[in-house]
Amino acid sequence: MAQPHKAEPPKSLRLYVFDCGSLNPTDTSAYQLKKEELATTMMSVPCFLVAHPKGTMIWDTGAVPDSSFKPGGGPATLRYATSAKPLTARLAEVGYAPTDIKYLALSHFHWDHVGDANVFASATWLVPKAERDIMFSDPPSTRTEPQNFSELKNSKTVFIAKDEYDVFGDKTVVIKSAPGHSPGHQVLFLRLAKTGPVVLSGDLYHYPEERKLNKIPTTEFNAAQTVASRAAVEAYLKKTGAQLWIQHDYTANAKLKKAPAFYE
Ligand SMILES: [Zn+2]
Repeated sequence: MAQPHKAEPPKSLRLYVFDCGSLNPTDTSAYQLKKEELATTMMSVPCFLVAHPKGTMIWDTGAVPDSSFKPGGGPATLRYATSAKPLTARLAEVGYAPTDIKYLALSHFHWDHVGDANVFASATWLVPKAERDIMFSDPPSTRTEPQNFSELKNSKTVFIAKDEYDVFGDKTVVIKSAPGHSPGHQVLFLRLAKTGPVVLSGDLYHYPEERKLNKIPTTEFNAAQTVASRAAVEAYLKKTGAQLWIQHDYTANAKLKKAPAFYE
């Protein structure tokens, strides 16, 4: 396979959406939603590359680690997740190697978001202290796969201590605190010149029906915080005119253009 030219920094902000697979939950009761209330029980698992003139950031790293793929290709699985292709291969198609990535940010620490976190251990990790603390708690949380992010322990780390963290200093890429689903759960605001403002949801919602029917999962770290974070993000969407992209929304995600295409 021909190696593509190493990507140049873009002139303006770009967002690449990678297909990092899907989830096939067998039981939706934890979402307080019956199968009949859902358009589909399937969930998408996107990963995102933010390419800014001043550097790059990965937002969420999928469920299935690249190390699980067999050399011959074909899908790999973890728990109830399946992915068709390693993230590193998808990144290479747009001219980036993991070592080109400046920042790593995770919406939160659950297993379906940290699959390839170790791949980006050379990046500077942007994380709230409460989230890092639960990631390295002993015994570890059963909601994650500690071996998939163990190398972040030694990564250069910036603790996010504010409600809004402006990654590149020009207000185009802003990590917003939205705790509740996990202690330091966060969402990502992007000001894209042509697409307009977008918020990537993390797991503020999973199914779009959660938002419509105002359902809070039973398994939240702190449900009262989730209620407050949802209200704050909904107000922020109104204020900024941003679209909300629910990352696990299978139907909406299928309509997004995937890398090598990008949003700008
Ligand atoms: Zn998730």
